[in-house]
Amino acid sequence: MEEGEREEFNRYLLTMRKFGVREIFVSDEKLGLKRDKKEEKCVEDDTTGLNTTSGLEDRKYEQLDKLKSEVENCRMCELGSKRKNAVFGESSYDAKLLFVGEAPGADEDAQGRPFVGRAGKLLDRLFNVLNIDRKSVFITNLLKCRPPGNRDPQEDEIKTCTPYLIRQIELIDPVVIIALGAYPARFFTGSKEGITKLRGKEYRWRNWIVIPTYHPAACLRNPNLKKPLWEDVKSALELVKR
Ligand code: SF4
Repeated sequence: MEEGEREEFNRYLLTMRKFGVREIFVSDEKLGLKRDKKEEKCVEDDTTGLNTTSGLEDRKYEQLDKLKSEVENCRMCELGSKRKNAVFGESSYDAKLLFVGEAPGADEDAQGRPFVGRAGKLLDRLFNVLNIDRKSVFITNLLKCRPPGNRDPQEDEIKTCTPYLIRQIELIDPVVIIALGAYPARFFTGSKEGITKLRGKEYRWRNWIVIPTYHPAACLRNPNLKKPLWEDVKSALELVKR
């Protein structure tokens, strides 16, 4: 498939996804892909044609678990030597909503889990109000290790660490990505604007819809930001339900 055709095909897939289509079958030859041996075997062994998808699903979980252990052992930037725990993210590998914050804070670093401090409690309250089960979404960050003193992520750290995030997104394949705060918003939109300008609109990043909004920590500092955060997550939820 040529570059232009691939772009057009991606736009088509995005439209289909908006209408609730979650699976589409295209031959590997058309996509210019080669199956690896394990996947080839999975397809060959499946005489009923019913097990192929679950084989691929198992493979997805395996790949995510492998990626998690890579992150936990990563020392590719200097944050790796300062952290207590890397924070890969949680919960569902089949999530339709994927939340991306900036970086772990002190509580997250101590527990190795995302959004477990005060900002996380606010996010949990938002989930309760919108009837979202935390176990059904995936929550992660741009950076997987805590910057000292919760300083802003640096450009080189973002560049080094985000291949992990990109791989998570490719494997989980959510319907909507919610970018929490300025750094994730700028990463996905490519814009240098502040979060107030970027929030609440739909953007497209590769095959995915991205909605930037305020980081819950910003809402703790300024409670007036809670309402727009609520509204933005609600509109993302509506896109998922469509
Ligand atoms: S922040 Fe990312 S790139 Fe840096 S050590 Fe941690 S996992 Fe590796």
